[in-house]
Amino acid sequence: MYDKNNIFAKIIRGEIPTQKIYEDEQVLAMKDIAPAAPIHILVLPKAEYVSFHDFMAKANAEEIAHFYKVVQKICSDLNIDKDGYRVMCNIGKNGMQTIPHMHLHILAGKPLGRMG
Ligand code: AMP
Repeated sequence: MYDKNNIFAKIIRGEIPTQKIYEDEQVLAMKDIAPAAPIHILVLPKAEYVSFHDFMAKANAEEIAHFYKVVQKICSDLNIDKDGYRVMCNIGKNGMQTIPHMHLHILAGKPLGRMG
């Protein structure tokens, strides 16, 4: 069940301010409020998907392709492709997802260390 009162739903509706770096009809990207790297961007589909898993199950192919094209465009626009970056999604309880609206993290700006 999608919780319409989660904080990202409020941001998408414009009820809470954020530092947007990209927006179109389907996608919003903003700076993470507690950055884990010099560059830490969150990319969200605006439609109501609880998680990456839910997004991939319910979104159509065009929506999914558009979302990932936007992720790539943001990374190009930020000029982080040369030195590299990390994209990741936390999913559910064991994935330590804290906000139940699908979002992808872009991390960059320094060597990020190995996962785990
Ligand atoms: P996750 O743990 O994968 O669900 O990621 C949630 C992310 O949202 C965390 O990195 C938080 O720092 C970030 N966050 C929480 N509230 C806000 C907010 N109001 N604006 C921007 N980022 C936020």
